[in-house]
Formats: sequence, structure tokens, C-alpha cells
Amino acid sequence: MKQKKFGNDGADVSVIGQGTWYLDRGDRTAAIAALRRGIEAGMTHIDTAEMYGEAEPVIADAIAGLPRENLVLVSKVLPSNASRRGTVTACERSLKRLKTDHLDCYLLHWRGSYPFEETVAAFDQLVTSGKIRSWGVSNFDADDLDELRDVAGDGKIACNQVLYHLQERAIEHAVIPWCEQHGVAVVAYSPFGHNDFPSARSKGGEVLQAIARAHNATPRQVALAFLTRALSVLAIPKASNAEHAAENAAAGDLTLDAAEIAALDKAFPRGPKPRSLPML
Ligand code: NAP
Repeated sequence: MKQKKFGNDGADVSVIGQGTWYLDRGDRTAAIAALRRGIEAGMTHIDTAEMYGEAEPVIADAIAGLPRENLVLVSKVLPSNASRRGTVTACERSLKRLKTDHLDCYLLHWRGSYPFEETVAAFDQLVTSGKIRSWGVSNFDADDLDELRDVAGDGKIACNQVLYHLQERAIEHAVIPWCEQHGVAVVAYSPFGHNDFPSARSKGGEVLQAIARAHNATPRQVALAFLTRALSVLAIPKASNAEHAAENAAAGDLTLDAAEIAALDKAFPRGPKPRSLPML
């Protein structure tokens, strides 16, 4: 499994990680088995959020007994809780639900109404007290990142988690360039389009299949390799099925050549820059 950095001085993190949205909705035993299979296969980066209901306790059960230092746990504060004090108490609640003493990264889930000064002060306090190792944001466009950097300073934002899949490439216009310029990792969420992966019979699906055959891989592995082709980009597919988790992890070792990337670029065009950043 390839590793990448969370920001300039950040920790190494598996290029393919595991999402957990809706992981608490189905069979709990299967969800735990999927997470564990993913971790065993090298997907040690696990993404969650206070918004994801009971997903954090599911993760706690999945990681019980595993060496904590081998995992990269990321959670998120809701914008409505992102005040100076609310951010700290939300983090403490997540730590309790995850049954751990620190997060590797803590994110503001999307931009809300609390001033950045408050949330950043809370993040700094959490770093100082050892409750988080680093912090970042989610669903931030380039202009939001500019404003945040003015408040926080250089080298503080570890990552920006944003919507990115074959049929939604808006972040390539401004967000990825901004993040690469400032040493911020880009974490691609919903890399399979949430529940809208290109069907095998579609034109794009055929391109995916042809490239997959050439690598003895699957179309989803090809999609993940395409999305993480830039040095700064990681992806966090969610799987509640252990076979799916194993398949996704194997994408962390797949590299596409320039012709394959060009074929995918043509099959799934980037499109014009939208007025605002798409999000789920
Ligand atoms: P996703 O990862 O794009 O797709 C998940 C779907 O793909 C599930 O139905 C899953 O099925 C299926 N799947 C996964 N691996 C598969 C495989 N190898 N073969 C066939 N099907 C497979 O969707 P997502 O959950 O929206 O996004 C991923 C993560 O990103 C979330 O879980 C969350 O952690 C994060 N996220 C963040 C934000 C944000 O605002 N920051 C927003 C959305 C998502 P099974 O479950 O049956 O395996």
C-alpha cells in the first residue's frame, strides 16, 4: 500500500483509506469485519465524523486490541458545534465513542457560521493537549482555504476532504492546485460516487473495464488509482463488506500509465469549473 503525507510535516497515511458514513446502518458484525479486513490489507486511515451516528463505536470495536500507533484516525466536528468551546467538547465526545485518547486529524466538516479564529483556537488547544495530532477541513473551496490560511498561518492545514469521483472532478480546477501549492493533502470522499458507480454497459464503464483487464484489476480499483494519481490526493471509499474492503485496498498498489490516464480523462471529462464547490 502506497503511503502519502497529511500535509507538509504530517504523518504517513495509506493512500486508500476507509470511509464510515452509513456503516452503522447495516449488519454491525459485517461492518466490523470489513474494517478489520481493510486494516489488515493496509487501509489504516479511517475516516469518521460525529455526524455519522453510531459509526464511531463500530470503529472502536473494529480497532479494539490493535496497536493504536499503526492507525490514522480522522473525525470531524459539525459546523454547528465548531465554537471555541464546542469544538473541544465535540472532540472529547468522539474520543470517548472511539475509545481512544487521540485523533490523528480532526476536521471542520464544512464551513459554518463560527469565525475561523474560534475553531482554529480550539484546534490549537487540542493539539497542545495531545488530543489531536493535526487538523484540517472538509468541503473547502480555494477561496475558503485562502481565508483560513490568513487566520491560521502557513503549514497548519493538514488536509481538505472533498467530493471527488470520476463523474465529479470539480476540485481539479482550483482546489487541488491550491492544496499542492500549500502542502495540504486532498482526501477524496465518495470516490465511487456514493452509490453511482459507472455501470459496466456505459461508455465510461467499458473504458474502465478495458484498463482493469490489462492490470488484472477491477473497474473500482482503476477508478481509485485514477483519482489518487496526483501526489497530493488520497481516497476513502466506504465498504461494509469485507470482500469490497480487500478489493479497495489492493488499489493502493495500482499505478496507471499516461495513456490509461488520458483514456479515463476523455471518458469522464472534467467539465467546466462550477460556481461553487459540489458537496454531498
Ligand atoms: P463511496 O465510498 O463512494 O461508495 C460507497 C458504496 O460503494 C457503498 O454502497 C459500498 O457498498 C460500495 N462499495 C465499496 N467498495 C466496493 C467494491 N469494492 N465493490 C462494490 N461496491 C463497493 O461513498 P461514501 O460513503 O459517500 O464516501 C466514502 C466516505 O467518504 C464516507 O463513508 C465518509 O467517510 C466520507 N464522506 C465525507 C463527506 C464529507 O462531507 N466530508 C461526505 C461524504 C462522504 P458496501 O457498503 O456494500 O460495501
